[in-house]
Amino acid sequence: MTALPLSLQRGACPALSAPMMTGDGLLARIALIEAISPAQLADICRLALSHGNGMVDISARGNLQVRGLSETSAPHLDADVRGMNLPLREGLAVEVPPLAGMDGSEIADPRPLAQAIREGARDITGLAPKMAVVVDGGGVLRHSDLLADIRLVAMGKHDWKLVLGGTEDSGFVFNVLRETLVVDTVIGLLKQLKSLGNKARGRDLAGGLLVNEATHLAPSSSLALSRRSAGVATIDPSHMLGTSPSMTARKAASPFNLFALSNHLHAIGIGPAFGQAKAEDIIAVCDEATRLGIKSIKPALDHSLLFFGSEDACRSLRDFAGDNGFVTSSIDPRGHIAACSGSPACNSATIATHEIAAKAAAECGDLLDGSFKLHVTGCPKGCAHPQPAALALCGTADRVSLIAQGKASDQPFAFVSFADTNATLRHLADLVRSERRPSENSAACLARIGSDRLAAAATGRP
Ligand code: SF4
Repeated sequence: MTALPLSLQRGACPALSAPMMTGDGLLARIALIEAISPAQLADICRLALSHGNGMVDISARGNLQVRGLSETSAPHLDADVRGMNLPLREGLAVEVPPLAGMDGSEIADPRPLAQAIREGARDITGLAPKMAVVVDGGGVLRHSDLLADIRLVAMGKHDWKLVLGGTEDSGFVFNVLRETLVVDTVIGLLKQLKSLGNKARGRDLAGGLLVNEATHLAPSSSLALSRRSAGVATIDPSHMLGTSPSMTARKAASPFNLFALSNHLHAIGIGPAFGQAKAEDIIAVCDEATRLGIKSIKPALDHSLLFFGSEDACRSLRDFAGDNGFVTSSIDPRGHIAACSGSPACNSATIATHEIAAKAAAECGDLLDGSFKLHVTGCPKGCAHPQPAALALCGTADRVSLIAQGKASDQPFAFVSFADTNATLRHLADLVRSERRPSENSAACLARIGSDRLAAAATGRP
């Protein structure tokens, strides 16, 4: 048998030509940089049925993932998808929000910068496999909560905040740059990362370049970059705007809404519960979209699919998808849970995450008010939500750990058996309901209650 370029190591980044082994076979990721038609998405789903096990994921970053491939079928999927002439992403991930260029509330259109960075980075090899650049124009749908090695956020028509590592809130703000400097600066930072090896990430650059080695320099100093990256990027201080007092990220809207866009276009966001659906179910929605005259679709953030069409068509599709079990509303509690594939789909999982998540959505709706993502993960790797969460449930070898205000790998405040997990969640939801102050959301209430009292409620201690 021909040797496959399979990415079998855990932690590797799956791709169309380098699928990753999971509990239900190989997983191939299809990353798109433009919209496709509903008919094309339906065709991808048919390929998932013929080459995989018929399960399709939409990742938190809006990538399609085909599951259950074999060593024999994976190359066929690769060839068949490439034969469709889709706008596939090759090389570095440079991501823009899905409504970019169509959103009247956008401060600046991020697409030209993103394209220039893609082109400038084409020859930069050897970067970390999951390296990501986000260019966010500041519209209604934002990438603020997605991790990025390098993030650009529009602060004005021609001014971009550059953030290294983390989310928009947790990352290291390098500075605000004039647009003319942005591409050279980002390419310079990517070359710097390349020189640090294929494990280096944006946060490493922030720590080493701007803090440890330049302790006498303010993070916003132009010297911080130009001194440490000679020959890579040099910033003229006259182009630097300094850090802005209003740099806190605006809360991003949920994609599960109806959006009015430019040129009388609308978009409706729908999504499979917990980011995963049977291919037949997605095909049914795509067929209905085609029947309604919807011409384009983008897989998008938060495990969503954005369909673009007339207002009437979008509303009709929302009703159809809702009747068929999809998340279609920002207040659906299922949209406020980040659950990885779990058992049995992933061979690292020790718990059936979707079973816990579905019960939690049905039983703890008032806890899931949209102020935080309940993280339900099959192991401490935390694929579905790499960031800290107000509350996380994590499968361990023989039970489930509960973590407050942290990542799945952080210190738990309690352990419960798998069988008791949903009952425990109900106790925590009851506690939040009884403790919640007027105008306080669940995330703030959980933080105020604190780990000790959460542990007492979880374990039934007085
Ligand atoms: S977080 Fe979930 S999907 Fe990721 S490796 Fe662990 S069990 Fe598998």
